[in-house]
Amino acid sequence: MLQGTNIEHAKALNRRVILEAVRRSGPITRADLARLTGLTAQAVSNISAELAEAGLIREGALRRGQRGQPATEISLDPQGGFAIGLNLGHQTLSGVLVDLAGDVVATESRPLAQVVLPLETLVDEMEAAVETLLQRAALPRAKLWGVGCGLPGLVRNGVLTVETMMAGVQDLQYPLAEVLSARLGLPVIAENDARAGAIGERLHGVGRVARHFFYLHFGLGTGGGMVVAGEHYRGGSGGAGEIGHMIVKPGGRPCSCGNRGCLEQYVSIYAAAEAVSGPDRVPDSVRMEELAERMAARDPLLLGWIADAAPYLRLAIHNIEVMFDPETVVIGGDLPDTVRDALISETEPLLPSVHPDAQRQLPRLSLARAQDMPALGAAALPISIMVQPSLDLLWKSRPTEGNAKLSQAQTVLGSR
Ligand SMILES: [Zn+2]
Repeated sequence: MLQGTNIEHAKALNRRVILEAVRRSGPITRADLARLTGLTAQAVSNISAELAEAGLIREGALRRGQRGQPATEISLDPQGGFAIGLNLGHQTLSGVLVDLAGDVVATESRPLAQVVLPLETLVDEMEAAVETLLQRAALPRAKLWGVGCGLPGLVRNGVLTVETMMAGVQDLQYPLAEVLSARLGLPVIAENDARAGAIGERLHGVGRVARHFFYLHFGLGTGGGMVVAGEHYRGGSGGAGEIGHMIVKPGGRPCSCGNRGCLEQYVSIYAAAEAVSGPDRVPDSVRMEELAERMAARDPLLLGWIADAAPYLRLAIHNIEVMFDPETVVIGGDLPDTVRDALISETEPLLPSVHPDAQRQLPRLSLARAQDMPALGAAALPISIMVQPSLDLLWKSRPTEGNAKLSQAQTVLGSR
């Protein structure tokens, strides 16, 4: 049932609507903002004054119209807030620090000793990555709005609990976001790595030219996320796009999810590592550099895996397209570029399309614009949760002690 809202809530919602409109369409005049949002000129004027007071937007150049007084353009103030995105990839923890406009201010990449880390060690590594990023950006902690984390496995209730298949333990509930938040004294939001990657592609990659796409991610597992009509689609429980568990071979290899024949069992970094590691090594000991070297040397074991994996990937792409008619399927993640390229070549030609489109602007399959998309997408989480207009995603965490700027922004945006 639809819920009513009180006046204070409505004010906060309108502030978010204006901020989102400035983010998407700025620099923009107040008159254009009023037209775009359906709010009155007076409301736009009041709200933009409040947002400017909180340091979230700033006034820019005068724009001379066809008639009447010249109007001031307002835009997002990139210095108004900062966020960090971390991504736990295959043997690497990567991180980015971005400003309110989403521009990268600092980056960090930490090689990890093992594929599967004890969770406490992972939290230590994440804390160290945050400290390094703050130092590199020469930014005080009080300027941070929060930390977003891209994590493999099933991440539900992104804000609080991680239900993970890491450490080989199924059904383990580890509140990673809560633990890291307590350590850092900052809000922490966790999201599945592939869905964070889809958010990254939406903001920084193919999302600039496509409104409907699927992002397929090679990380610790194989996952996916989808952008529908320009928005990241989460599904009923936040798990939409879990492509690694699409069954491509009924009765096939057993999977950690309890089913058999899931895509991830054939098309994943683990499956590639298993194919090349031989009987005397564990697949987890295969590093990405080794896969790149084997690719350069045209190693028959790796080429054999690509030949075996391609038909399953072809089926998965077909099923994605049938269900969802994306403009393109973007392939990203930690698999070396040369191996991804070879896998894509082997997967083509794709099965005949049931949505043939002579006007197609993008190839049916494409490579992600950057390997760090999950970290970029994760960095967008603390910002987008605070500014996006949907009130069901209102940020529930407490403001950080002493973080005056953040508290002010939270007050203005109605998230406390
Ligand atoms: Zn499965």
